[in-house]
Amino acid sequence: MTDKKQQVLQQTFGFDSFRPLQNQVVDKILAGEDVLLILPTGGGKSLCYQLPALLMEGILVVVSPLLALMQDQILGLKSKGISAAMLSSMQNIEEIRATEDALKNQEIKVLFVAPERLNNAHFLSFLTSLKIAFFAVDEAHCVSEWGHEFRADYRELGLLKTHFPNIGVAAFTATATQQVEKDIVKQLNFRQRDNIVRGAVFRDNLYINVVARQGNGYQQILDFLEKYPKQQGIIYVQSRAKTQSLAQFLQTQGFQAQAYHAGLSNQDRKSTFANFIGEKTDIMVATIAFGMGIDKSDIRFVLHTSMPKTIEAYYQEIGRAGRDGLPSEVALFYSTADIGVLSGFITAIENEDYRNLAFKKLDIVKQYAFSEGCRHQAISRYFDDDMSPCKTLCDNCNEPDTERQDITELAQKFLSAVYRTKQLFGQNHIIDILRGSKSQKILNNKHHELSVYGIGKDYSKTQWKVVVGRLLELELVQISGEFSSLVLTDKADAVLKSEQVVDIRAVNFNISKKSTKTAKKSIPPEYDFDEVIFEALRALRLEIASEVKMPPYIIFDNKTLQAMAYFLPNTKEKFLQINGVGETKYEKYGERFLALINTLRSEEFQEPTPEKPVQPEVVKPEQTPSKLGETYQTTLNLIQQGLSIEKIEAQRSLATSTILGHINKLTEVGLIDNTQRQALFSEIPCNPTLDEWIKQGIDLVGSIESIQSYLSIQNQLEKGKNQSHDL
Ligand SMILES: [Zn+2]
Repeated sequence: MTDKKQQVLQQTFGFDSFRPLQNQVVDKILAGEDVLLILPTGGGKSLCYQLPALLMEGILVVVSPLLALMQDQILGLKSKGISAAMLSSMQNIEEIRATEDALKNQEIKVLFVAPERLNNAHFLSFLTSLKIAFFAVDEAHCVSEWGHEFRADYRELGLLKTHFPNIGVAAFTATATQQVEKDIVKQLNFRQRDNIVRGAVFRDNLYINVVARQGNGYQQILDFLEKYPKQQGIIYVQSRAKTQSLAQFLQTQGFQAQAYHAGLSNQDRKSTFANFIGEKTDIMVATIAFGMGIDKSDIRFVLHTSMPKTIEAYYQEIGRAGRDGLPSEVALFYSTADIGVLSGFITAIENEDYRNLAFKKLDIVKQYAFSEGCRHQAISRYFDDDMSPCKTLCDNCNEPDTERQDITELAQKFLSAVYRTKQLFGQNHIIDILRGSKSQKILNNKHHELSVYGIGKDYSKTQWKVVVGRLLELELVQISGEFSSLVLTDKADAVLKSEQVVDIRAVNFNISKKSTKTAKKSIPPEYDFDEVIFEALRALRLEIASEVKMPPYIIFDNKTLQAMAYFLPNTKEKFLQINGVGETKYEKYGERFLALINTLRSEEFQEPTPEKPVQPEVVKPEQTPSKLGETYQTTLNLIQQGLSIEKIEAQRSLATSTILGHINKLTEVGLIDNTQRQALFSEIPCNPTLDEWIKQGIDLVGSIESIQSYLSIQNQLEKGKNQSHDL
C-alpha cells in the first residue's frame, strides 16, 4: 500500500512527499476508521480525502456547505483526471438523473452533495444501493453549535452512521476549539472518538499586524498597499456599500481593485471572481461573502478594515493569505466604532444562548485587537493550542520597544471612580463622571458631588475607552453582572497605591488625540459628542453620498451630524428636532440614520437635555511625535536632502496628493516645521485669481479643509462618471 500511496501522490497530485499529518490521516481513512482532522487553511486537507479515495473501491461522498466550493473542487479533480460530480438543488431533473446513472455505472469517483440532501429519504436509499468508499465532511465546524458557522443541516449528519454503520466518516475543518472538536465527533457518532488529528494553528509564513484605524482608514490602506505593488490580496470591509466606495477609491489611486459582495448579480459575482483568479484584478474589496472555498495559493495579503466578529472567522479569513507557504502579510485596522456596529448585529440574535456566546466572542476579538502580546500566540491559545511567542512574525513581538505612554495616573483616576461608585456602573457612566458630564443619571445618583467628578476632562471619551481596554487587558478591572458593571480585581490595589505602573502603546492612545486635534483645527464643536460615533455617522453619510452622487454636506452638514452624535435621536420625532433635519431629508435618509443610531446607542446612554449642550472642553494637545510608517520616513529623508516636491514625486513614483499628504502629516507631528513646509510649497506658483477665489471660498465655507474635501469629492464623482461612460 505504501508504494501505491507514494505512486498516486507523485503521479496524480505531483508531490514527492506528504505534508505533516497527511500521511497519518490517509492511513486512518484507508483502515476504514472515523477521523477528524483540524488543519489550518493551506495545510493540504483535500488531499487527505482525495488520495485514499483513489486507492479504495467505491465512491467518495463529500459533504460540502457551498456550491462554489464544490464547483471549485470538481474542476480541480477533473484537472487531475479524477471523475467527479455533484448533486445540487440548482440542477434540473435531467441533470440529476444523468449523474445518478453515471454513479450507478461506476463512472464517478467523487460525489459532492450539500448536507440537506442527506436528509432526503429517497437520496439515502439511492446511496445505499451504491458502493461507498467513505464519507468526507468538509467544513466540519458547521456541525457544532459552539462553532462560528453552525448549520442545522450539518447537525443531522449523525444519521450517516445510522444508515452506514460500517463506512468511515472523515471530517475536516480549519478551526475548532477543543469544545467544538468534542462536539463534532459526538454529533457525527464517531466509532473512534479519539481519532482527532490536530495540526498546529500557527501559520509561520504570515506576518500579523494590528493597528487602530484612523478615520476611514484610507490613508493607512494606501500605505499598506504601497508595499505590495501588483500583488494580489483581499481587503475585507463591513458592508456592501463600503466594498463599492473603497474599490472606487482605490481605482482612482491607480489600483486594479474590484468590489465583491453577496448582493451582486450572479453574473457579476462570477466575472469578478474570474478576474481575481485570472489576475486581471489585483485587489478584491469584499464582504466576508468572499473567500470561502477560494483555492488561490498566491494571495499575498489579507487586510481587515474593521473588527471581525469572531476569532474563528478572522483566522479563516487571514488563512486565505500565503497558502503557497511564501511570506504574506495580514493586517487589521480596527476602531472602537466597530464594536458598536457588531454589537448591533448581535443584539438582533433572538436565541439568548447564541446571543451571549456571540457577545463573549466579540469580547475576545476586542481583547485581541488591543492586546500587546504575541498575536500568533493569542490565536493559537484561542484554539487551545499553545506556542511560545513568535518573536518576529507579528507587530507586538517585532516592536516590543515601541514608544510607550505612562497612563498610571489615568488608571488611578478610573479605578478610584469605579471604587467610589461602589462598583455598580459600566464604563460609559464612569467615563461620564470623570469627564464631568451633567447627565440625568449623574445628577440622580449625586455623582457630581464625588471628588473624582470632572477630573478626567482633559481626555476624550475615546481615549478613556482605550484606557478601559488596557485596564481590562491587564485584568485590573473586570466586567460583571447583567448591567456590565466594572469591578476591581485584586491587582487594582497595587496600581491605586502607586506600586505598579500602567503603560500603553503610545500609538494606541494617540489615535484619538489625533482626532481631537483635527476637531480643534476647525470650528470648535458646539456639542461634546463622541468622536467615534461621529465617525460612524460620517461614514454612513459618505456611503449615501456616493450612492446618490451628491457631496456629503448636501445630505447633512457636519454640525447636524455632530448634533446627531450628541443627542443620538432614536425616533422620528427626536430626529426631526435636530437642527438641519427637515421632513424631506427625513423621508430620504432618516431611516438609515435611525438604524445606525440604534446600533450606536449603548444601554447606558443617557439622553442629554436639548437646551443645554455641554460647553466644549479645552483640548490639551500633547507633543508626542507618533511613530510614522516607513513611507513618511522616506519622504522626510528626501525633503531633508533638499529635493523639491516635484522631484520627490518622480523619485518615489507617487501622486502629488500622496506627497502633499506626507508633508501635512510630517508637519503635524513636528518632524518638519512651518518654514520648511512653506519653502516646499513656495515652488508651486499660485495664480493670483485662483488665490483670490480660494480666499472667497474660505470665507464662504469656513476652512481650507472643507474646500479640499469638496474638490476631492467633485473629482471622484467626475471620475466615477467618466468610468461609467467607458463601460
Ligand atoms: Zn508574535
